[in-house]
Formats: sequence, structure tokens, C-alpha cells
Amino acid sequence: MVDEKISIGDGKMSNGVAHQDDPTLANGLGDHKRSAPESTGQKLKHFVMANLLVILTVSAVIVGVFIGLGVRSAGLSRTQIIYFGFPGELLIRLLKMIIIPLVVCSLVSGAASLDPKALGKLGGWAMLFFLVTTLISSTIGVIMAFIIKPGSSDGQKMSSLHQDDTQVPEAKEVIDSFLDLIRNIFPSNLVSAAFQSYTTVYKNKNITNSTNLTAFTVEKIPAGKEVDGMNILGLIVFAMAFGVALRKLGEEGEILIKFFNSFNEATMVLVSWIMWYAPLGIMFLVAAKIVEMEDVGLLFASLGKYIICCVIGHAIHGILVLPLIYFLFTRKNPYTFLLGLVTALATAFGTSSSSATLPLMMKCVEENNGVSKQISRFILPIGATVNMDGAACFQCVAAVFIAQLNGIPLDFVQVITILVTATASSVGAAGIPAGGVLTLAIILESIGLPTNDLSLILAVDWLVDRTCTVINVEGDAYGAGLLQYFVDRESSKEGAELNKVRVEKEDPASRPESSPLIEKQGKLELEEAAGPKPCEEESFM
Ligand code: ASP
Repeated sequence: MVDEKISIGDGKMSNGVAHQDDPTLANGLGDHKRSAPESTGQKLKHFVMANLLVILTVSAVIVGVFIGLGVRSAGLSRTQIIYFGFPGELLIRLLKMIIIPLVVCSLVSGAASLDPKALGKLGGWAMLFFLVTTLISSTIGVIMAFIIKPGSSDGQKMSSLHQDDTQVPEAKEVIDSFLDLIRNIFPSNLVSAAFQSYTTVYKNKNITNSTNLTAFTVEKIPAGKEVDGMNILGLIVFAMAFGVALRKLGEEGEILIKFFNSFNEATMVLVSWIMWYAPLGIMFLVAAKIVEMEDVGLLFASLGKYIICCVIGHAIHGILVLPLIYFLFTRKNPYTFLLGLVTALATAFGTSSSSATLPLMMKCVEENNGVSKQISRFILPIGATVNMDGAACFQCVAAVFIAQLNGIPLDFVQVITILVTATASSVGAAGIPAGGVLTLAIILESIGLPTNDLSLILAVDWLVDRTCTVINVEGDAYGAGLLQYFVDRESSKEGAELNKVRVEKEDPASRPESSPLIEKQGKLELEEAAGPKPCEEESFM
């Protein structure tokens, strides 16, 4: 029996070589040819070509801000703004289109390609990382809110921001919120899970008193309702279970595993095409948002401290804490890793959606940061759904802010309640724009704060949500990077050669639950050592 420690192809099965430390490959466009010394002009050209997508994406955000400010003065009507934002809308549609095939296929093939023990071990480490980082992020949020005290500003200014047309999410009992989360993990209908999820709504029932027929009490009865919005958690759980089941089938499951593998590969090719459209889409998303904003001055004057609190909290977590954790474990430069993610981070900023960023994030970590496909395609969909460091941070700031606004002092137990519920509710937050505000109600309910102040949070969520989403996806990527490091370490301990020999030598009959594909992968590694195949040279082009 092979001791299949988490030996997932020593990190080289991703796309040939882990090239995290090679800056020329920052966006996977690096030219592998090394020639005679280059002139400065050539070097510059080489640099631009190697980092073209990153340069285009970052420029798109900056240019988008300027275009937005310029067009804002033109005083466009609502309809004109919608037309103006059309290229951005198209990007979101393209990314959304790819989510279901990507998540389902990558998880089925990921789960099927891993030994259940390795799967459990990887999953366990990932969950631990997600939990710890989310708790740290929540703590940063609370500390920032206590230091900056955003809720002690002029309350009158803020009251003007309570907009009548703002849809404040309906408050749910805390228990119902958690039960809904569990219900969504087990969707009753897989097809409808692709576009609907379950939520509790309440019906009031008058119950007459048996002794006094004129007196009655009103009972709030929870009832189920399917609402628009993909139940990605349910799809993830199903896809993983299905992958494990396919692996258990052994040879019989091979065809279907191959099917999901190639479906997955084809989807990633589509993603690489969409990536080149991303800069244009992001530019228009940012510009249209700026044109659409009502009174930015008023928002900043009244909610500026809250915004600053959230943004600083996100910056501390994203620029210091996450890189530090990565560095402590791997001793590698965490900012080189971060550089490889720029395109995905800019997309997160532009779209405010972790789910929509998922396809590009997979491409970035695989092609720029040397994370193997098995790890990225298994861990990133889960991370994009359950790991929301940015959301936990801003939810904590928002909860303390609302308490301060209402003059409610928070004691130690309430602060701990905020930390724990923020961590839990960030798991339930959907990776969509404003997903976190919806679950913020859970935290407010748990410590008895008024939920109607959510309209204030919603007023500036278009901005806070952007940095929040960037941190959400950054946390997932570092999680994938760390897992890759652990896997590499395990396999180097074992000795790569020894591993291959052991996989090759294994008697299939002695391992009835293993997938035939795994053994083939063992052979594949040896072939890979001989040189990459043309199809592995998949690039963004
Ligand atoms: N927009 C965030 C995301 O997609 C979720 C949130 O609103 O916190 O990750």
C-alpha cells in the first residue's frame, strides 16, 4: 500500500514548473528563451511584454477612475449610465457564466484525483488556515473600530444618509440563519441550486387563547423560500462528494473523471481568453460606478471614519498579516506571491465578487505562483465561498460602529460574540457584491443592535466591498500557496524519485479504491521530467 502522503506531483504538475521566484513570469507570459545581454530598450520591451496583462489591468483601474470623474460632470441620465457601463456588465456576465462549470468540474476532478486521506488532510489544513486568518481579521476590525471610533461622528449628518429606497435586508433569527446555511449545504434540487438558494421568511399566525377567545398571541413561524442567487455551497459539497464517489468506483469511474478533467481544462482555456477582456471590463466597471455615485462628498463627510477604518483594517490584514503568515511558514518572499495575483486582485476590486474572481485567481496562482492544479482547483472554490477575511473585518467594524452610533457600550462578552459571529457569518456570506452586508444582520441580531442602521453600511458598501473582496480572495490565494508549500515539503521529505517508484510499483489490486488516473499521473510525472508537452505550455494567449 502506498503511503500517499499529500504527494500531489511535487508542485510541477501545475503547468510544468513552479516559477514563483522568477519575476519575468509575473503573469505567465514570460519568454523562456534566454539570449545574449539585452539593451535597456529591449529589457523594457521584454518587461512590458512579460507583464502586459498586469500593466493593462492596473492601468484600467486608474484610467477608469479618471474617465469616471470626467464623465460624471456630463450629468448622464440613469439610462445613459447603464449604456456607459455596458462593457463592464459584459465582463461580469462572462465571469458568472464560467463559475458553475469551473467550480463543479474542478472540484469533481480535484476530489477524484486525491486519496481520501490526503483530501481530508488538505481540507483540514485549509479550514484551519481559513478559520485562524478570519479570526485575526475580525480582531483587527474590532481593534480599528475601538481606536478610530467611527460611530462617534455627527449623527445628524448620518441621518440624511438613511435612504428610503435602500433595501435593508430582513432580519432573521440567528438560529434560522445558521440552519439556512446548513440547509443550503444540502440542496434539495441540484438544478435549482445553480440559480436559487434557500432562505427563511416568517409568517405571522394568530393563536387564540383557549380560555379567553378575544385574546390571541402572534406566533412568528419560519417558512422556507427559494430566492434568486446561486447556492454555491450546495454545489461545492455535492461536487466534492461526487468526486470522492467516482474515485471509489475505481476503473468504472475513470471515464467520468476524464470527462470532468477535460471539461475543466476547456473551461480554463475560456478563462484565459476572458482575462484579456478583463482590463476593458474593469475600466468601465470602475468608471460607471464613479459616474453613478450620488454625493460622494456627503458620504465621505459623514461616513469617512467608517470607510477609513475598514480600509485600514483591510490594508493591515492584506499587506502585513497574510504576507507575514505566508513568510513565517514558507520563508519565501510573500510580496512576489502577491505580485503574481495582481490581475485577480484588480478583478476583485472591479467586480466586488469573489465568485466572479475565482476563474482568474485560479489562472494566476497556477501560472504565476506555481500552485498545482490539484490544489488550486480544489481549495480556491471552497475558499471563495467560505473564506472571507475582508468581510469578517468590515462586519466587525460595522457592528462596533452601529453600537457607537446608538450609544450602546459593548462589554467583553459582546465583543467576543461579535468576533465569533462575524467569523461564522462570513462563511455564510455569498461571494457576490454586498454579500457580507446581508449576513451582517446576524451579528447585529446576536448582540441586540438595531438592524435598520444597515442602510448606512449599504450607502458606502460599493466602496468598502471592493477592498473587502480583494482581501477575501487574497486570503484564499495565500491558503493555496501555503498548502502547496506543505505538499512540496512532504514530497521532498519522501524524496521525489522514491515517490514515483512507489506509485509505479504499486499493485492496483491492493488498492481497490484508488483511481486509475492517479497511477497514470505517477507515470506522467516521469514523462514530464523528460520535457513539457506542447499542451502544457498553456498561456494566457
Ligand atoms: N463582495 C464580497 C465577496 O464577493 C462579499 C462581501 O460582500 O463581503 O467576496
